[in-house]
Amino acid sequence: MPDTILRLALPSPLRRLFDYLAPAGFPRSALQPGVRLRVPFGRREVIGILVELSDRSEVPANKLKPALELLDRTPALPESLFRLCLWTAQYYQHSLGDTLSWALPVLLRQGELAEARQERFWLVSPGANPDDPRLARAPRQREALRTLAQHHHGVPHTLLSKLQLNKDSLDLLLQKELVHVEIRRSAPLQRHGSSWLAQPELPLNAQQRAAFNAVQSGMDDFGAFLLYGVTGSGKTEVYLQLIRHALEAGKQVLVLIPEINLGPQTFERFSRRFNARIALLHSGINDRDRLDAWLAARDGEADIVIGTRSALFTPLKRPGLIIVDEEHDGSYKQQEGLRYHARDLALVRARQENLPIVLGSATPSLESLHNAHAGRYALLKLSERAGNAKPPRFLRLDVKSLPLDSGISGPLQQAIGKTLEAGQQVLVFLNRRGFAPTLLCHDCGWISQCPRCDARMTLHQRHNELRCHHCGHVERVPRQCPECSQVDLRPVGAGTERAEERLALLFPDYPVFRVDRDSTARKGAMDKLFTTISKGEPCLLVGTQMLAKGHHFPRVTLVAILDADGGLFSADFRASERMAQLIVQVAGRAGRADEPGKVIIQSHLADHPLLVQLTEQGYTAFAEQALSERRSASWPPFSHLALLRAEAHKPGQAESFLDEACTIAEQLMQQGVGSNIELLGPVPAPMERRAGRYRAQLLLQAGQRAPLHRLLATWLLALEALPSGRAVRWSLDVDPMDMF
Ligand code: ADP
Ligand code: ZN
Ligand code: ZN
Repeated sequence: MPDTILRLALPSPLRRLFDYLAPAGFPRSALQPGVRLRVPFGRREVIGILVELSDRSEVPANKLKPALELLDRTPALPESLFRLCLWTAQYYQHSLGDTLSWALPVLLRQGELAEARQERFWLVSPGANPDDPRLARAPRQREALRTLAQHHHGVPHTLLSKLQLNKDSLDLLLQKELVHVEIRRSAPLQRHGSSWLAQPELPLNAQQRAAFNAVQSGMDDFGAFLLYGVTGSGKTEVYLQLIRHALEAGKQVLVLIPEINLGPQTFERFSRRFNARIALLHSGINDRDRLDAWLAARDGEADIVIGTRSALFTPLKRPGLIIVDEEHDGSYKQQEGLRYHARDLALVRARQENLPIVLGSATPSLESLHNAHAGRYALLKLSERAGNAKPPRFLRLDVKSLPLDSGISGPLQQAIGKTLEAGQQVLVFLNRRGFAPTLLCHDCGWISQCPRCDARMTLHQRHNELRCHHCGHVERVPRQCPECSQVDLRPVGAGTERAEERLALLFPDYPVFRVDRDSTARKGAMDKLFTTISKGEPCLLVGTQMLAKGHHFPRVTLVAILDADGGLFSADFRASERMAQLIVQVAGRAGRADEPGKVIIQSHLADHPLLVQLTEQGYTAFAEQALSERRSASWPPFSHLALLRAEAHKPGQAESFLDEACTIAEQLMQQGVGSNIELLGPVPAPMERRAGRYRAQLLLQAGQRAPLHRLLATWLLALEALPSGRAVRWSLDVDPMDMF
């Protein structure tokens, strides 16, 4: 009889499976796809996942090694998630083993039991008592037994030291069988109450009702819905009522949110509404808690799973609905390793598991709008704010001939002052952290260039540092110019730190809060800040796009955008879309309650047609225009892209690898593997040097997806074998969002 060959996905970048012999003593039935096995790999041992069984291997029989250990009795990975990972690996042209590593909780990859946390409890044995003669000369054991006897349900091992229970004494008591240990599974989350609703629902308005009905009537099958609702239109209320519906049908719901900072807020709103077990998954929780939440979802013990990008890979026992909030948000795309897009994969998952999926946004991506136009998504519109709130008014402030004081013009200062005096809050948006983007020598023109990147270092005055935001390089601020030794070094331009400092001087009677990655690095900082702000006292908020996302600030009535020019110049074809989304999202923070909101946009190009159209006609008009430009230029969504990036220590190395790659692709196409694919490049990356490496890229553009993917699959195997590939770091990005 031939040996059973196990074909495993291993944590390796190589796009192939690895063959092993079955471990001794296991029936074939124990070897189901999705179980984990420990195997020898080179000089290490690694954990792999069984993909399939075979009777044959290309590897010579004497080279095949047996797997060392079977880690799961039943597959750790349910079949549905396994299927999603297979699809993901194929679509993104990524190794399956590495894909699984990104998708699974860390502890599962490290071999932890795929079962809920087990805990050891210490208990007094029946009949044991402190007067036992064996304890006559053991006062510490006697004491320990007394303490333990006070806890009828036992003491968890982790709490021993808290109760001053000495482990050695307990071990001695255990030998005497005066105490014993019980292994208990930590209690699954409990549901309180019998009704799912903990709070009455708001009566939906007509548009919300129509949206709700559309999704609800298709609740049993796959269907994609684009919920396009202006900020504050009550999208979340629609989600909540759909979720209730799914819960009542005995189903679980997966909710993706773009940003970890939104987690607590969303979690709170959901827990106020539901008597439900809600798991919150994001990058900030520890590995054990993540695994427990993952297991609870898999085993049907969590009713609602809320999480950021990677939560997409949470298995659900009884999936009923997927919601992707702020579907346009760039953070759904992972920019390293497995470069997946969680929104796109959520659609794949919904189709695979036959579920409805709702994509919600006030500023839908052009891709999603295009899909709605093409009939692939049902478009559900909420065009008015719910409740009493009115849409904000826009004012474009031309600052061409106005002096800027730390980025803030005179008329803007006046508007801010008036708002504060009226007892309201002001949000100042500036998408640049630090004090100033550059330090300049006024005498010789030296600028603070990063030694490792083609980029300038940002001045962080508070820490007296120059920091590169691209590679993390940090230097002390020089006392004198490194070139000419003069001391007249001046910050140029303004970042959030400078705006904060200036506003604090201009408006000394009001608190100024800064919200950016530097100010919120401490855990909980953001939460505390939002609690303060929600008290409603007049104040100033200065921040980056962290402020733009989803937050509800009822007392903010003025939003100021200090600099809207970046998105109007960039070479990236997505820049204007991003800028428009950002402006509308930031603007959406204004006047969300009873007082009307106002948005002031400072720009040197206040008459730019894009800005005019966006502010006067709104996002839909902008998006239609942008889509027709994309169509005539054949950019996505009217074509499909893949970007091969390479970087190396020596100049030219990355390009020569890409040159070879380009030649191979051309040869493959001549042989009929893929067709009508344009190869653009190789060219140096827009920022050629970064962190000391020289970077270049090759863009593939195709009208049809299928031929592009046919080419990619064959091509990448050839690239893996290419000797020149060893000297460079290369990666493929399917559907790149960022051309840098
Ligand atoms: P979005 O998710 O679109 O930003 P929300 O669901 O957060 O909107 O709603 C914005 C505000 O309007 C919230 O304060 C919410 O309680 C309120 N709201 C939503 N729907 C209704 C409704 N049908 N009637 C009254 N108020 C509503
Ligand atoms: Zn100088
Ligand atoms: Zn740098």
